[in-house]
Amino acid sequence: MMLDLVRQHYPNAVDSGTFIRRTLDVLKEKYQLEPNQILLAHSICSDDVNAIAYPEEGRQMLGPFNLGGLDGYPFVGLTGLLAFAHHVPDDGAALIFYAPHIGLSAQGELGKILRVGQQGVSACCGAAALALQKIRDEVPLPATSPSDNYQQHTLTKLLYAQRERVLAAKQPLREATEVILEASDKQIDHLIQHTSFMGKYLFVISAIIVNTDREFPSFQELRRFQRLDINTKEVLEELLF
Ligand SMILES: [Zn+2]
Repeated sequence: MMLDLVRQHYPNAVDSGTFIRRTLDVLKEKYQLEPNQILLAHSICSDDVNAIAYPEEGRQMLGPFNLGGLDGYPFVGLTGLLAFAHHVPDDGAALIFYAPHIGLSAQGELGKILRVGQQGVSACCGAAALALQKIRDEVPLPATSPSDNYQQHTLTKLLYAQRERVLAAKQPLREATEVILEASDKQIDHLIQHTSFMGKYLFVISAIIVNTDREFPSFQELRRFQRLDINTKEVLEELLF
């Protein structure tokens, strides 16, 4: 079973539909929030596999407002988050979800998936794999960020900052994904601190998305689920499902 294979790498993963149902159950049971009172912002990779594998359950909420870019890093920055923050329903909730992704083929190859209409596997996340290749080969980073490849440059820079840790890992791409998640944690927190929100509630969720071959759904392992004070941004509650 694909889930068993996924859990060899991500022991707490569930399929993405279940992940969202559980999230919505918590928001309904604890805060009486219906999906149409929740505005979702998501920071996920631009990769088309994320559109193909997007769980139907996620479409009940308002949005999504896209914060992401390559490998789900919140590239829209302050202006993007501020725009989202001003769209939250008055009596509703802002839900910020961010997650890098990694492929896992049915053959058990981490960082690869079989895509629709293709015979051979390809890289996932391709941008993370490329950044990893650059730090492996010690390709020098250009001194200034290229305006035509800013996102890839940023990911490569993030991995360079943790080069030894990533290359020493048994599964360097898996470790690179953790590095990108940690950098996203920091950036999301920074952006939230500098943004004023409409609405009543603010929730933050992070995960690792595991994409698999075309005949299977995607899976997610929860890493963070918190309610923040929408004004002070203090953590009020650690949530679980
Ligand atoms: Zn990607």
